[in-house]
Amino acid sequence: MKETPAKGGVFGNVKFSMDANPKLGDAMMDERCKDPSFYVIRDDLLHPFVNGNKARKLDALLPLIEDCSGTDVVTCGGCQSAHAAAVAVSCAERGLRSHLLLRGEEPGILTGFNLISSIYGNVIYVPRSLYAKREEMLLRHANVTAGPSGSVVWLTDILYNFTDLASGKYCTQTKANRNTEDGMRKVVIVKEGAGDAVALLGIIRLLSYLSQSHILGKKRPYNFVIDAGTGTTAIGFALGALILGLPWKVTAVMLADSYDGYKNQENRLISDYKRYAPADLCNYELKDDLVQWVNRKTPRKFGNVLEGEIKACQQVSNQTGVPIDPIYTLAAWELAVQLSQKQPDNGEKVVMLHTGGTLGMFGLAQRYNSYFSTLKDGPPQ
Ligand SMILES: *Cc1c(COP(=O)(O)O)cnc(C)c1O
Repeated sequence: MKETPAKGGVFGNVKFSMDANPKLGDAMMDERCKDPSFYVIRDDLLHPFVNGNKARKLDALLPLIEDCSGTDVVTCGGCQSAHAAAVAVSCAERGLRSHLLLRGEEPGILTGFNLISSIYGNVIYVPRSLYAKREEMLLRHANVTAGPSGSVVWLTDILYNFTDLASGKYCTQTKANRNTEDGMRKVVIVKEGAGDAVALLGIIRLLSYLSQSHILGKKRPYNFVIDAGTGTTAIGFALGALILGLPWKVTAVMLADSYDGYKNQENRLISDYKRYAPADLCNYELKDDLVQWVNRKTPRKFGNVLEGEIKACQQVSNQTGVPIDPIYTLAAWELAVQLSQKQPDNGEKVVMLHTGGTLGMFGLAQRYNSYFSTLKDGPPQ
């Protein structure tokens, strides 16, 4: 473990301790009384090309596809989609074929997530006008991929056939349909972002891992800071804490939607989850305190980068060894800095879940080349 003295605006007066695994020694627990500091869960280190939270969301989904003898996966996303890249890599690792429908034109030079998707899967660029009708586009492409003898199924329909997802029980009826003959394709369509209730299971597995006594344990209070796109990761995390009975809070930075949008997503995922795993949440009534949704310090249209932010990311990486990006994890970093400066009396510690996203920097370097040229001067000291 190494302590880094705090410097500059992206640090406040917060100190950093580095450890790839969040093993919390008692020395560290005493430390927090004196100086503001926070922990970082390095979920970005799960895989070199698959973002931490994308890997979590696919954790329970891919075994389902394999279990119903899927041969091909069709999904979609933006040109630099981390989700598409995650599907491409994870499918290749399991011997499934992936087909990634990416919005817009093929870029002149492939880089970042786009490059990874192209290396691991079949990338098809779809004009924006066709992409606008997403379901139609996905279905059409899935049908072409399946060919005349193959079959096409939506992931949501596979899920419907489960009686209890959490315990892996499903209707006998699906079992009969499972075996496809050799050479026949069974194409599974996964919606953009994989934001279904099944994504929550992988996130809940992360909590069950973290709550082991040699990591965070089950007793101490923590406030987890999570950057929210669709909000699925943050909601899954908070639900997991509830189901596992952990005294953990979730504070999520709203990056891509309004407060009402995130509340709707909360409702939708909870009712979905109740349908798939009824025993887990049978007594749960939706309250207003599942996730604390907060605004970004510097709000903007999702995907935009402000002047100085690339430099700020460079500075954090340089001073702490933790890579962050301006779209997602810088927002979580800034909130973690802010929250750890007013640590509450109950000893609640701030923990940033590092969701990954470093490869996103490569795509940004194409879009914002002037911001990147200033990196040559080195980080601000
Ligand atoms: C996709 C992504 C998110 C958003 O996750 P949601 O579950 O959609 O909220 C956050 N951070 C990173 C790095 C991501 O790739």
